Amino acid sequence: MKIIMLGAPGAGKGTQAKMIADKYGIPHVSTGDIFRANIKNGTPLGTEAKQYMDKGLLVPDELTVKILLDRVAQEDCKNGYVLDGFPRTIPQAEVLDKALAELGDKIDYAIDVDVPDENIVRRMGGRRACLSCGATYHIEHVPPKKEGICDVCGQPLVLRDDDRPETVQNRLNVYHEQTQPLIDFYQKKGVLKTVDGTKDMKDVFADIEAVLKA
Ligand code: ADP
Ligand code: ADP
Ligand code: ZN
Repeated sequence: MKIIMLGAPGAGKGTQAKMIADKYGIPHVSTGDIFRANIKNGTPLGTEAKQYMDKGLLVPDELTVKILLDRVAQEDCKNGYVLDGFPRTIPQAEVLDKALAELGDKIDYAIDVDVPDENIVRRMGGRRACLSCGATYHIEHVPPKKEGICDVCGQPLVLRDDDRPETVQNRLNVYHEQTQPLIDFYQKKGVLKTVDGTKDMKDVFADIEAVLKA
């Protein structure tokens, strides 16, 4: 099963993608996590990507597409995956489509987690991330057991540089301009499913499970 998560930054794509990955035993592939891991390890890719990420801009397609295609070519992706944060532009979606078509394959579902902008700005300020293992928390909705410490790996949690309010608005603008057109793109392919992302995260997941079973 190959699934794409669509939705604004902070809509809950990562949260839901992890639940899908656990339930269906497929890898959760997040381009944002891959970039952050590279930044943390000080790789050239990380240095390049950070310049864009800190401004709330997208990392250029050439760079992003290569990273993603390498990742999904790995053995663990053979039986499917859930993509979180890719594609984010029409050209990215076209490259992915073409790469899959060459393998006689296609995306099964594009799940749009729909959340209005006003909710997003509130959510992002409360997000806390573990840059070691990729776990995500929320100071109100999903607090860690011990304040400021990752439940999974014990590392300190951070407010991502790009989750500061001034950058969040830029990211939302970028989302509306460059990423939202993908909703129409996947609608035309007949694989789009929309869920109400303002609900409690368990209820959002129940709606996604219903979609995947239908
Ligand atoms: P969120 O889910 O909160 O939007 P991500 O972790 O998916 O955050 O992405 C963080 C940043 O990484 C993006 O704002 C962008 O700069 C970069 N990025 C991630 N995925 C892509 C992509 N597919 N194309 C271009 N840039 C990307
Ligand atoms: P995305 O990957 O789309 O950027 P995340 O999954 O990281 O979004 O979620 C953004 C923030 O909102 C996180 O702090 C997360 O814990 C929280 N969150 C996710 N889903 C919900 C929900 N349904 N209700 C309230 N908060 C949520
Ligand atoms: Zn962690």
